[in-house]
Amino acid sequence: MNGHVPAVVQGIYDEVVQRNRGETEFHQAVREVLESLAVVLDRHSEYTEMKTVQRICEPERQIIFRVPWQDDRGEVHINRGFRVEFNSALGPYKGGLRFHPSVNLGIVKFLGFEQIFKNALTGMPIGGGKGGSDFDPKGRSDAEVMRFCQSFMTELYRHLGEYTDVPAGDIGVGAREIGYLFGQYKRITNRYESGVLTGKGLGWGGAQVRTEATGYGAAFFADAMMKVRGESFDGRRVTVSGSGNVAVYAIEKVHQLGGRAVACSDSTGYVVDEKGIDLEVLKQVKEVERARIGAYAERVPSSSFVEGGSIWDTPCDVAIPSATQNELDGDAASVLGRNGCRYVVEGANMPATPEAVRVFRDAGIAFAPGKAANAGGVATSALEMQQNASRDSWTFEHSEARLEEIMRGIHARCHATAEEYGSPGDLVLGANVAGFLDVAEAVHAHGLI
Ligand code: NDP
Repeated sequence: MNGHVPAVVQGIYDEVVQRNRGETEFHQAVREVLESLAVVLDRHSEYTEMKTVQRICEPERQIIFRVPWQDDRGEVHINRGFRVEFNSALGPYKGGLRFHPSVNLGIVKFLGFEQIFKNALTGMPIGGGKGGSDFDPKGRSDAEVMRFCQSFMTELYRHLGEYTDVPAGDIGVGAREIGYLFGQYKRITNRYESGVLTGKGLGWGGAQVRTEATGYGAAFFADAMMKVRGESFDGRRVTVSGSGNVAVYAIEKVHQLGGRAVACSDSTGYVVDEKGIDLEVLKQVKEVERARIGAYAERVPSSSFVEGGSIWDTPCDVAIPSATQNELDGDAASVLGRNGCRYVVEGANMPATPEAVRVFRDAGIAFAPGKAANAGGVATSALEMQQNASRDSWTFEHSEARLEEIMRGIHARCHATAEEYGSPGDLVLGANVAGFLDVAEAVHAHGLI
């Protein structure tokens, strides 16, 4: 571990590495949280005695299963499915499903671990979990995606339930996939259990603003960070990596708040549009046609496409990395700093490497960790569960107002906690400590389980 940490915290980290060998992203996520917790353990000896941190670092249950399916040509494929039910101290396990070829147990565990604290920060009654598969939906027909989702759910359904475990979307899992997953769950269980999945279509139990929530939420969070410094989005240049669910709606809200998003990306490269990203074109290319980002530049004359390369070379005032983990390293962070970037707000989960976070700290760049800044998605999922439970359906305006209130509340809590624990302005410490305290108190109250 880096920096000065007491032996007890170092010991916990060493044990996690030892018993979860090779799961580097999980180690990284645990280390980041542990580095913040020394100040908490100093004040709460009961958490050391009862090994509360060690218990939170060990998932309650890990499920790994085979997912066989047939493509349109009749060829058989075998993928691997995962669901890590990490912690249920605050409520049923809650967290998305990711379909991407890079998915493995270590990635699912890093995401599930982060989710515990993120969910706590929302103030909603939800525990932490995450799942997914190494299935690659890219280039697959709707029928293939449907067959995969049906096979995946045929195993997973027995572990789910509105009071047990409630998945949602993540990379590669959007409204289409949630629809197929819900259909198969309903068919197998013979239950119309709306609260078992979130991110559902609006016509069948979904909630207004769930699609927009993570991106909108990250922009609201950034706005709150600026307000504390007497600043705003007005006229600011913003770079948003990715062009999926989080990125598209982060851009939309940045524009509504007066900023100008000038660049976005996918895994093939990035586009720069000095006039500001045209959302209508972006949505058509990415959401409707599921095409590559280069197609945007072919249609918008004011833009250019850079194949490969680093989107972080684009000068900006605010960066919102919204693609994937470890996409912004120390070198990219230095470039951002040299180009005058003042705020970095994680739309994705853990997109900034530890080196990048150190660069931001040293350069005085305000930084928001994903577990706080992208909590709007899961918070709105919890609102979806609330509406499902009461068979109610709120308006867009009401739902968005609730989201904004929750995001500004999370920011205020992280900010205040950082101050209370002697690190003013350190939202990483504020988020980790505030989230941990909620979870630890409940874990402690439930006895040794
Ligand atoms: P999507 O699948 O909708 O979009 C992901 C985007 O990131 C795509 O543009 C994709 O490009 C790009 N991307 C993925 N992997 C890479 C890579 N290795 N290199 C470059 N670009 C990449 O996912 P989401 O928008 O839902 O999720 C994005 C991030 O936000 C993830 O970290 C996710 O965990 C996090 N998140 C999502 C929430 C949600 O509600 N959806 C909630 C909280 C966090 P390409 O298509 O070329 O792969």
